[in-house]
Amino acid sequence: MDQRFAHLSNLAAIDAAHHIHPFSNMQKLNAEGTRIIERGEGVHIWDSTGKQYLDAFAGLWCVNVGYGRSSIAEAAYRQMQELPYYNCFFGTTTPPTTLLAQKIASRAGPKLNHVFFTNSGSEASDTWFRIARVYWKALGHETKTRIIARNNGYHGSTVAGASLGGMTWMHEQGNLPIDGIVHINQPYWYAEGGELSPEDFGLKVARELEEKIIELGEENVAAFVAEPIQGAGGVIIPPETYWPEIKRICAKYQILLVADEVICGFGRLGTWFGHQYYDFEPDLAPIAKGLSSGYLPIGGVLVADRVAEVLRDQVGDFYHGYTYSGHPAAAAAALENLRIIEEEGLVERVRDDIGPYFAEALSSLADHEAVGEVVSVGLMGAVQITADKASRRRYEKPDDIGTAVRNHCVSNGVIVRATGDRMLFSPPLIIARKEVDQAVDTLRNALDWLRDGQRQR
Ligand SMILES: *Cc1c(COP(=O)(O)O)cnc(C)c1O
Repeated sequence: MDQRFAHLSNLAAIDAAHHIHPFSNMQKLNAEGTRIIERGEGVHIWDSTGKQYLDAFAGLWCVNVGYGRSSIAEAAYRQMQELPYYNCFFGTTTPPTTLLAQKIASRAGPKLNHVFFTNSGSEASDTWFRIARVYWKALGHETKTRIIARNNGYHGSTVAGASLGGMTWMHEQGNLPIDGIVHINQPYWYAEGGELSPEDFGLKVARELEEKIIELGEENVAAFVAEPIQGAGGVIIPPETYWPEIKRICAKYQILLVADEVICGFGRLGTWFGHQYYDFEPDLAPIAKGLSSGYLPIGGVLVADRVAEVLRDQVGDFYHGYTYSGHPAAAAAALENLRIIEEEGLVERVRDDIGPYFAEALSSLADHEAVGEVVSVGLMGAVQITADKASRRRYEKPDDIGTAVRNHCVSNGVIVRATGDRMLFSPPLIIARKEVDQAVDTLRNALDWLRDGQRQR
């Protein structure tokens, strides 16, 4: 154990007594005990028993440059010694904050040249939600307030974030969604495509956007929001027909297109941003996670010129911001993180080298009896578990199956995530080929174990 905590031999008990965890059943967690993670290096982390894990999930989709980057720690340390904090409210800024905005803009689509900083992806959701409405009001379109989002999308846990997200089990806690947010279907062909081909299904669900705009009235719709690839929803990679059709619809109607880049941004898909992978340009794009590789909390919203110009010339004061918007230490850490991504060519590495290798390794699972489909883009991938390959039938309790397979992997030293019965990968962008092999082999063993267990029943 770390020397600083050597007197705490009972951390798990203290945790159970005092710490409420995010997205957790505390009764269950307290009974099973918390795992205490103490150290990280490269793609590995170690818990308090000394057990080593290959983190094939990059923390929570975020540790893109891997653990143990002392230059990021040093950049934050230097900034904290020089100036630990100052705000950006009263006509002020700090050097790393401003330089970070420039750096991010230089990598995003050509019209995305402005950044509003937040401390998280959830706050970024709340931020663009207000910008979208303020934008249309400033242009004299008072009624353009409705936001169209998608079932099983994820946009964070604040009231606006959870409302924009399409997780019904989140909506049930706290009477969400708030007014003015409506959801259309997601492009999840495996589960919801029925008899349609993936291409036809992609068109069908994309056209729900057009139908919804017509139903609500274009004059009442402010924006449509989507993750380029849904993350928390299960790494749902849309059929090839989907984004081109969304692009067509958004060009036809006067609504803002919002790409939630919190996961897809900063190299995960082998492009700097997900909108570049799918070749469209959003008007607003929330970012977080890989922006700092999680070393310090920071997020933001990329704002396109036409929106930024209305904010500047027609809104006057925009009454929105966080005490820590553009926090200098977090900005310094993020700048160094982006410098590493550039210097080591990690985006190109994902696109040309480790991404294709990962896709091939993962697809070796496609023949497995328990596997329905295998999908990936860059270093974001999913393996869908099935009870019957031919009919795409799911197990009766998909969550239990996914959790069991995940636990099997974790006890064998590889951290993957389960969303229902989909096994998700999102490793650091520095992962080596042999580590990809280890992750895939570990999942294969867990799937064998699942198949053999089900046969015995
Ligand atoms: C994680 C996530 C968020 C929320 O970000 P937080 O930093 O957890 O608030 C929003 N959108 C997407 C797509 C995410 O994956």
